[in-house]
Amino acid sequence: MTDILETGLTPLEEARHGFRRELLDAGLLIASASAGVYGRSATFEAVLTGLDRVLTELTAPLNATALRFPPVYPRADFELTDYIASFPDLSGVVSSFEGGDREHRELLAAREAGERWDGYLTPADVVLTNAICHPLYATLRGRMPAGGGVYDILGWGFRHEPSADPMRMQSFRMHEFVYVGEPDAAQEYRDTWLDKAVDALSGLGLPVTPVAANDPFFGRAGRMLVSEQLRDNLKVELTVPMYGDLHEGTAIASANCQRDHLTAAFGIRTAGGEVAHGACLAFGMERTVLALLRVHGLDVNDWPLDVRARLAL
Ligand code: ATP
Ligand code: ZN
Repeated sequence: MTDILETGLTPLEEARHGFRRELLDAGLLIASASAGVYGRSATFEAVLTGLDRVLTELTAPLNATALRFPPVYPRADFELTDYIASFPDLSGVVSSFEGGDREHRELLAAREAGERWDGYLTPADVVLTNAICHPLYATLRGRMPAGGGVYDILGWGFRHEPSADPMRMQSFRMHEFVYVGEPDAAQEYRDTWLDKAVDALSGLGLPVTPVAANDPFFGRAGRMLVSEQLRDNLKVELTVPMYGDLHEGTAIASANCQRDHLTAAFGIRTAGGEVAHGACLAFGMERTVLALLRVHGLDVNDWPLDVRARLAL
């Protein structure tokens, strides 16, 4: 064990670095020059694929419409989500070069001189997707069918939160099951599927605990949104203790009542014409794989047979 006084790390930071080091040494994750940006090994992907099968089987009774979106979506839709107001520090905006030869020569001269050249770029009309349900909402403008709709969305999310904790990546996959429709049904959907998610994850040997949660809304205005989220119990996270007593646990999934937060902005109505409500059950795919590796060990060949069977490993 490295001496804390030598490294200046707290015991929790030490534990996070240690887990990261083990994952890299085992070849499960491959480090890059950016914190929280990793390659994944074939074994890591096999566990993730197996987990995805478990989630797909679990949610089969929903008859969800499966849709896949790319990891970028229109800036105009990003505007409507209000993400830049609530989480400016997590966002990722794409830029590219739109100048001519003269501006390109200036860019190259700046680069040659070792200066910053990103000032020569212009924001593009797409941004990185932060929550993979956002591109879905943008497609639902207008009236929902009677009873609402359920959607199965899997994709890559970006959050600008570089960290040494392997549980906190900048680019990772989420599998979300989203209901959009009647307000009462949205609340009921959230509660029902939260319970089913607890059972499915527990069945894989994961010690999950549901915890009332709040998002890291930015700044002073954000603090009001946090208190609303907690007061009305809008978001529940399923957490797993990853670092023993050093940390209260990390969320591997969340179930969220979005109320009319996105539906009002995107002009989505119920069949009866009211503003629809949204609810989503979101699984963090990498985090769940990492929790499985933490609980059952880094060698998947040594995992309990029933867990291996469920994951088709
Ligand atoms: P909303 O749709 O309102 O933005 P959400 O419920 O879709 O919220 P989050 O709860 O923020 O989104 O994220 C969903 C899941 O993604 C989390 O429970 C977690 O497992 C995973 N996740 C979130 N941030 C990270 C990260 N930095 N690295 C890895 N996984 C993450
Ligand atoms: Zn969502």
